[in-house]
Amino acid sequence: DHLVNQIAAGEVVERPAAALKELLENSIDAGASRVTVDLAEGGIRLIRVNDNGGGIAADDLALALDRHATSKIRSLDDLEHVGTLGFRGEGLASIAAISRLTLTSRPPGAEMAWQVLAQDGALHPPEPAAHAEGTTVEVADVYFNTPARRKFLKSPNTEYAHCEAAFERIALAHPEVEMTLRHNGKVSWRLARHTLAERVGQLLGNDFAASALSVDAQAAGLTLSGFAGSPTLGKSSRDAQYFFVNGRFVRDKLVNHAVRQAYHDVLHHDRHPSYALFLTLDPAAVDVNVHPTKVEVRFREAQAVHQFIFHAVNKALAASKA
Ligand code: ADP
Ligand code: MG
Repeated sequence: DHLVNQIAAGEVVERPAAALKELLENSIDAGASRVTVDLAEGGIRLIRVNDNGGGIAADDLALALDRHATSKIRSLDDLEHVGTLGFRGEGLASIAAISRLTLTSRPPGAEMAWQVLAQDGALHPPEPAAHAEGTTVEVADVYFNTPARRKFLKSPNTEYAHCEAAFERIALAHPEVEMTLRHNGKVSWRLARHTLAERVGQLLGNDFAASALSVDAQAAGLTLSGFAGSPTLGKSSRDAQYFFVNGRFVRDKLVNHAVRQAYHDVLHHDRHPSYALFLTLDPAAVDVNVHPTKVEVRFREAQAVHQFIFHAVNKALAASKA
């Protein structure tokens, strides 16, 4: 039912940046080593994501746009061990419900590309298209068919800022992927294939990278790596807090608290520390299924995770003071 789809879609795709995040995650899940994003008018008029990943076979194009169709999990048991970013199978369907979506793909080795167009809940039959190996998803006119929601979109500049933030989060988590972002035809980011340190330097600034402390701790199935802004760094550094759990950006109270407490313990002040930290743990020890936009998480052993993060960051900061 088209209306039901539109309502459910609103939960996943609150704004263009949410659509962009879904598309970028799909490209990463498809194993792309190069991803190019074009936006027009903050993503409201156009979001185009092109990748050189594994593509979608012609026969599966329509399925990819089906609600709850995912190629990434096959059983409830898989859900416990989600290794990919997507798994609900509602990303493309949700975006298609609130925009004009064109999906063009050519799996490596396929003779030609095929394209499907989704509009107003209807799927046009696949047509042959010209396209290199990989996939392009074009999302035009977000919320054109739901004026009530369109009204809640902010100015193109504000929507663009959200899109750029979504791009930067994926870019930090995947330094090995070459990534480009253009807005209204102008290049905002052109990122080569990087090491994590190089990419952190690009995205958080070279002052940050030059003085940041390297965090690298392991205990009982938990690993924390990345960079914590140097305590002596002045206000010039970009105020940026990035925390990833198993490759997913999260904004989490427990995590924030643990990091801030670690800074406070060493520095005795509460200024916003900047950091880019990556926590990895057994996927079964964390529930990423809390909210459709998947920014929140729930740890099975919350207290242990809090302590681990606190000690890991605290150790890195204390070492720099010594
Ligand atoms: P999910 O990512 O949760 O599986 P989506 O609706 O985002 O659900 O995507 C549906 C399916 O379409 C994916 O499982 C995948 O098989 C396919 N797909 C989507 N985008 C791409 C892409 N860029 N490259 C290859 N396959 C893709
Ligand atoms: Mg997806």
